[in-house]
Amino acid sequence: MKVIIADQAGVCFGVKRALDLVNAEAEKSGALATLGPLIHNPQVVHDLEEKGVRVVKKIEDAGSGAIVMPSHGVPREVMASAEEAGLRVVDATCPFVAKVHTRVHALASEGYLVVVVGDAGHSEVKAIRSAAGENAIVISSVDEVDNYKWGGKKIGIVSQTTQTPERFGEVVGKIASKAVEVVAYNTICYATHDRQTAARNLAPSVEAMFVVGGRNSANTNRLVEICQESGVPTYHIETASEIEDNWVKRMQVVGLTAGASTPQWIIDEVRKRLEEL
Ligand code: SF4
Repeated sequence: MKVIIADQAGVCFGVKRALDLVNAEAEKSGALATLGPLIHNPQVVHDLEEKGVRVVKKIEDAGSGAIVMPSHGVPREVMASAEEAGLRVVDATCPFVAKVHTRVHALASEGYLVVVVGDAGHSEVKAIRSAAGENAIVISSVDEVDNYKWGGKKIGIVSQTTQTPERFGEVVGKIASKAVEVVAYNTICYATHDRQTAARNLAPSVEAMFVVGGRNSANTNRLVEICQESGVPTYHIETASEIEDNWVKRMQVVGLTAGASTPQWIIDEVRKRLEEL
């Protein structure tokens, strides 16, 4: 079986960096915990647990030792409470996300009302908002722009890193039509977008698509939808062991993609299993 891997697939820069940091920490002695699952991939979380890395929901549950902050960042008060609790903080916040924190902090200091275009309930957005302080709001869609009075204010706009360029552009455009002074920074990270484009390009040229990633991973589920939209049989799997021989009977070429939280070793195992069929 020939297996074509999408041009962009698997862990992004920020997730790889977080995994490398945690694996390096796990080599050291002392208790180690991550605040929430490091990534939305059960195999990776299980692998880390086997190395003694615990997952805790709250700072208070960490006890002693070191705690790893996730790649999507945490609100300032969470960081502060970890330090107050005497924990050693391992900050795995993706540098792209950290840059957004720096940006909104600067905007707020200069008197701008900070607008974060994104999903208010998402952890990354909560952390960005916290970095901006009190003078910040979250807008999730262009329709919400009408809920605020913009006249006379200085507005500084950033984006959640996983927003689409289209939505960000719409919100910025509408606010710009209502406010006097608007500064907008496109802080979208194109890692997710690039993986989706690569899957969309590959799917029509193969007989089936395999999408590897956690079933609880939003970006993996989106890749599944994109492949299904192209009309090819699409299989969402977490590991190579799930593949059944009859899925690819009489097929010659299949495609393979993976969510941004799927490490290379899982992709390699899936590719190897498919090539053997
Ligand atoms: S998707 Fe982009 S911003 Fe998010 S962790 Fe990956 S590289 Fe960083």
